[in-house]
Amino acid sequence: MFDKILIANRGEIALRVIRACREMGIKSVAVHSTADADAMHVRMADESVCIGPPSGSQSYLSIPAIISAAEITGAQAIHPGYGFLSENANFVQIIEDHGLTFIGPSAAHIRIMGDKITAKETALKLGIPVVPGSDGGVPDIAAARKAAAEMGYPVIIKATAGGGGRGMKVALNEKELASAFSTARSEAKAAFGNDEVYMEKYLQKPRHIEVQVFGDGKETGVHLAERDCSLQRRHQKVFEEAPGPSITPEERARIGKICADAIGKMGYSGAGTVEFLYEDGEFYFIEMNTRLQVEHPVTEAIFGVDLVREQIRVAEGLPLSFTQDELEINGHAIEVRITAEKLPNFSPCPGKITQYHAPGGLGVRMDSALYDGYSIPPYYDSLIGKLIVHGRDRTEALARLNRALGELIIDGIDTTVPLFHALLQEQDIHTGDYGIHWLERWLEDNQ
Ligand code: ADP
Repeated sequence: MFDKILIANRGEIALRVIRACREMGIKSVAVHSTADADAMHVRMADESVCIGPPSGSQSYLSIPAIISAAEITGAQAIHPGYGFLSENANFVQIIEDHGLTFIGPSAAHIRIMGDKITAKETALKLGIPVVPGSDGGVPDIAAARKAAAEMGYPVIIKATAGGGGRGMKVALNEKELASAFSTARSEAKAAFGNDEVYMEKYLQKPRHIEVQVFGDGKETGVHLAERDCSLQRRHQKVFEEAPGPSITPEERARIGKICADAIGKMGYSGAGTVEFLYEDGEFYFIEMNTRLQVEHPVTEAIFGVDLVREQIRVAEGLPLSFTQDELEINGHAIEVRITAEKLPNFSPCPGKITQYHAPGGLGVRMDSALYDGYSIPPYYDSLIGKLIVHGRDRTEALARLNRALGELIIDGIDTTVPLFHALLQEQDIHTGDYGIHWLERWLEDNQ
């Protein structure tokens, strides 16, 4: 069993892991950049180590600095959170070479899923339905024309090494293809250092449905139903819920079993998310994330399980603490992502928090590293809090979200809280009638 875990992350997710450690009687080590010396994760952990200057590449992405911090403090395992090094197979390999444990899947599984073409091929082999698309990478515009003609327009061009919604371009017709193709390639090169792209049929009004899975690293896989994360801006999720309002119990059981069986067959270890686009009753795999997701709390709320605790247990070599039959959905949960951004343009808005008050009461959870007087540094992601509500049903969850948003106070900076107040006025949000393009259109019409 571990008695000390290092958390290679910052912000709310570092707190999330520290909390799980504390409940398990495990000591925690925070790492931080010089810009984060006053951050809440540093205050809350049992120990902390400064690992470098503000820039992420010299601190939270610095593998030598993080390994040294683990060695100096005697931590036996490293939890990567999400983002930063969480899906870096090389990092996992180096951790293992140092006799430490990575809390997450194997380097091999991360590598397979990190390359989107290999991921799709693997998914297909495991019986998971995929989006129709090019057969692997598309080397040049002639090949792109041919692939598009075969699958039919519109098409989307995506970076093989992609992530975070970057390096994706849509071409509605052949006229748009050449420029979309070259832009996607140069964006991919700039963002990921790899200009390989592939193509998919562009689905017109799908929902984003993702299945939470867990594997014991041997042959058991379970699923914890789906989350609907269709409300997105620039391919980034802003509002997530579980279970999906459009998914029937039969569909849930069908796609859940396909994913759980695949995870079992792979011998996958720990938490993962299989992402799909969903249209007209069909699921189309787009990618698998081999880490804890930002939106994991909505799943925790409806199942009453602690996914971080489960990740740590699996990394310790323990069996899963639940079987598929024991997992039962209870009610409905919604998360909104609060970012330090100024509406209507979502321009970054770091700065000093003059007053912070978190909402509370029945069915309300606020995961945030904010505190009164904290200065949000300008160097990192703009996510400053996740408000998660749980109710007996969706109607109750929405009423609770409205109530909790009303209690929340974040003064001193601009945030996206007004966006959520406005969304709660929309009929479509209450009926659950939205797809992945709904929010972009709404923003165009309402700004
Ligand atoms: P990333 O890893 O960058 O997040 P994904 O492959 O997960 O990229 O896609 C992110 C989002 O982009 C999806 O949730 C969806 O909104 C949109 N998207 C991706 N592929 C398609 C497609 N074939 N058709 C329509 N929209 C798509």
